[in-house]
Amino acid sequence: MLDDLLPLLRDHERFFVTTHLGPDGDAIGSQVALGHFLKQWGKEVTMVNADDLPYNLEWMPGGDDIEVFEGALEQRRALAEADVAIVLDTNGAERLGKLGPMVQKSEAVKVLIDHHREPEPWFDHYFVRESAAAAGELVYEIIDALDPSLIDTSIATGLYTAIMTDTGSFRYSSVTPRIHRIIADILERGGIEAAPIHERIFDRKSMQGLRLLGRMLNRIRLRFDGQVAYSVVTQRMVRDTNASWDDKEGFVNYVLSIEGVKAALLFSETNDGSKISFRSEADVAVDEWARHFDGGGHRNASGAYVKGIFEEVIERVVDAAPQFIDLEGAGPNEYRLSEEDASYLQTLLKLKEDQSSS
Ligand code: 5GP
Ligand code: MN
Repeated sequence: MLDDLLPLLRDHERFFVTTHLGPDGDAIGSQVALGHFLKQWGKEVTMVNADDLPYNLEWMPGGDDIEVFEGALEQRRALAEADVAIVLDTNGAERLGKLGPMVQKSEAVKVLIDHHREPEPWFDHYFVRESAAAAGELVYEIIDALDPSLIDTSIATGLYTAIMTDTGSFRYSSVTPRIHRIIADILERGGIEAAPIHERIFDRKSMQGLRLLGRMLNRIRLRFDGQVAYSVVTQRMVRDTNASWDDKEGFVNYVLSIEGVKAALLFSETNDGSKISFRSEADVAVDEWARHFDGGGHRNASGAYVKGIFEEVIERVVDAAPQFIDLEGAGPNEYRLSEEDASYLQTLLKLKEDQSSS
């Protein structure tokens, strides 16, 4: 609860702030905003994550203050000496990577600020609201309650990035008039412009990344009468295109954008299995599906890591679709060729015909 959190923040001096593996805009934006706010407010703040910033967030004002955890003594000490350890935008130790067990065992007051379902029980304080559009929305509420006049460029940019990225640029069903009012307030108080933030996050893709996108698009497959679509990013595709692993950010949205597709999955090949992104249309929930494979997330955007042979993981997860989402008509195993595959098949058949007739 916010009411209990405010005095707790007021009455302590040293803060350790962290967020999840593979940090996204909400993770980094919330962290920078809260970290800088606490500093401006006179607190001592250390920000440490298990993973580095993705390249499309490297520009973020104040992002340099986030350290990558390397097991250094100083970083351990910062946590050991912290009065309060704050976890943002995730609710489980595992999603904190190497920092997870350390934060969990730390003697600091452990605070969770998050918008995911079913938080783990080891935190001392919870400021969790599942309906929040982003962790950044909750951070805004904290700042708004304590001293909104401290919102500067860095805090405003962090909050804007957090809310904008977690709402798919203000298009998901989590976006309410209130969210737009919050955004208006952030823009005014911070004196920042929105357009350059969008450009830095979305319009600085590498040519290699776009080539990888092309390969991914080519491999989209439809199942269940076109209601489920999936594609892959294999290690080979990444190698061949010289792209980086981060480049697949946002790819799954193309898969979901196909008309008639209710749920989309992207399987990214790892050394021991697959990372999976689940996305769905507003009235279709995919979180239970992800949870079934030991992942989790939100109603319309979830994820999981599944170990096993890549192709088998794909089959297992896709075949499970009817258990978790309502599909119309088509039998569970009906397979419809993509238009591309169909035309390829026709070319092959024609080639064969031509050969046999000549
Ligand atoms: P993405 O597909 O962008 O990696 O993840 C979408 C959402 O799913 C994230 O915001 C996060 O809430 C959740 N998520 C992604 N990967 C995992 C995972 O391995 N475990 C859990 N519990 N949640 C995940
Ligand atoms: Mn989030």
